[in-house]
Amino acid sequence: MIRMDTNTPANGPGHTHPGSTLSEMDLRVRALETLLVQKGYIDPAALDVLIETYETRIGPHNGARVVARAWTDPAYRRWLLEDATAAIGSAEGFGFSGRQGEHMVAVENTPDVHNVVVCTLCSCYPWPVLGLPPVWYKSAPYRSRVVIDPRGVIAEFGVQLPASTQIRVWDSTAEIRYLVIPMRPAGTDGWSEAQLARLVTRDSMIGTGLALSPDALAAA
Ligand code: FE
Repeated sequence: MIRMDTNTPANGPGHTHPGSTLSEMDLRVRALETLLVQKGYIDPAALDVLIETYETRIGPHNGARVVARAWTDPAYRRWLLEDATAAIGSAEGFGFSGRQGEHMVAVENTPDVHNVVVCTLCSCYPWPVLGLPPVWYKSAPYRSRVVIDPRGVIAEFGVQLPASTQIRVWDSTAEIRYLVIPMRPAGTDGWSEAQLARLVTRDSMIGTGLALSPDALAAA
């Protein structure tokens, strides 16, 4: 079932739909779906599977598992840095493959280097590990400004780095999608892969965030 956001603010004056709590956009989407189904162009069951897939099966929790394994398994970390496509997508890896994940490259944050990912041309994004991109990732201001002033842009996301940390910006292309491996937070010695994965946020894998500290996780 398509999830409709019924909390969307009402439409502008003179543009309300009596008896409906759906927004203008929701109504348009629903009308379009109805039309496509009636014309036989789409199968509603197939559409539901697609939406369900991107809502639950594919998302940043996949990338978080990859990062947590890299933090705990040195052999896996080496494989990920050498051949992320295989380490993430192959059956011996995680099997997270599919559209926009055909050619993956993992870049690792260290005290000396912090990596940030953008697609300056459009919105290329590693879907199999991060799901669908957030709105800001696709926005023109992010795409243009992060290249010119990465330190300023990530500061707006709340990330303050020492001046000695170099920031590298990676521009995604139709061929290559990047995944940032954030630094493992302090105070996590002995944590299991599953525990560690909970510290890995979507933004930390784009480079606009850091992995959560154990305290931040406890407070969340
Ligand atoms: Fe793109």
